[in-house]
Amino acid sequence: MSDGAMKLVVVGAAGRMGQTLIRMIPSMEGVTLHAAVGREGSPFIGKDAGEIAGLGPIGVAISSDPLSAFLHADGVIDFTAPATTVAFAGLAAQARIVHIIGTTGCSEDDEAKIEAAARHARIVKSGNMGLGVNLLGVLVEQAARALAQDDWDIEVLEMHHRHKVDAPSGTALLLGQAAAKGRGINLRDHSVRARDGHTGARPLGTIGFATLRGGSVVGDHSVIFAGEGERVTLSHSAGDRSLFARGAIKAALWARDKKPGLYSMLDVLGLSSH
Ligand code: NAD
Repeated sequence: MSDGAMKLVVVGAAGRMGQTLIRMIPSMEGVTLHAAVGREGSPFIGKDAGEIAGLGPIGVAISSDPLSAFLHADGVIDFTAPATTVAFAGLAAQARIVHIIGTTGCSEDDEAKIEAAARHARIVKSGNMGLGVNLLGVLVEQAARALAQDDWDIEVLEMHHRHKVDAPSGTALLLGQAAAKGRGINLRDHSVRARDGHTGARPLGTIGFATLRGGSVVGDHSVIFAGEGERVTLSHSAGDRSLFARGAIKAALWARDKKPGLYSMLDVLGLSSH
């Protein structure tokens, strides 16, 4: 099963991350581009995926048929949209191939469906596929554990390009989860996702989120621990999408020989605490 280069399908092939993946795959050992899938009705269907990504022709046309694309593949890399990712999780599970999910903005219902698909499939899902942010998450968890909630408030600040459609970002939520884990609390019950008007004083023990959008920013995140007269800020800045693509491809290679299950980038990077 693990012989030869891992045959990968890139879905959302004409998107920002899809194009980055198509440029990245030929430069990485152990993987090959098996197929490229676009949205049905998209003007890119039938076009050469390499040409769309700025590589020149590579002989792989963008198709709108995920079922045939998945059939003889080893894995699919998916940076698309929540409903699409849920549908692809079912197809990837049926085809028994690895599914790497970078899509953000999934609802609890979407997450439950992805978890169900992971009973039969090897899925790696993360709001951020890079080493830097995953390491930052570990540091945020430690800091949140060390800095008592009565004295230290936690705020997560993020900025992304003007085209981003979900907020807070998947990475901001990943960092918020890490802080909540360090505090031993449930993020859902303690997060403040927006503030407007007469909000009253800051409730103790909450984790606040602030979202900025503009220009071409790939992804900036800061977690601010604010205490009496001092502040600790842990931050990360992504300058290039290729770091997410490289991480996703590494995740596919890592998952190739794993048992079915839902894994995170912490597992792939060996940063998992369990
Ligand atoms: P994008 O809009 O440029 O690309 C998404 C692509 O998916 C589009 O080309 C769209 O046509 C395609 N698509 C939608 N439905 C489809 C379908 N049914 N079949 C095939 N293709 C379909 O967006 P982007 O900037 O590339 O980001 C995509 C997702 O990845 C977002 O959720 C974003 O937040 C996330 N993202 C995650 C990470 C990470 O490290 N986890 C990094 C960057 C972006």
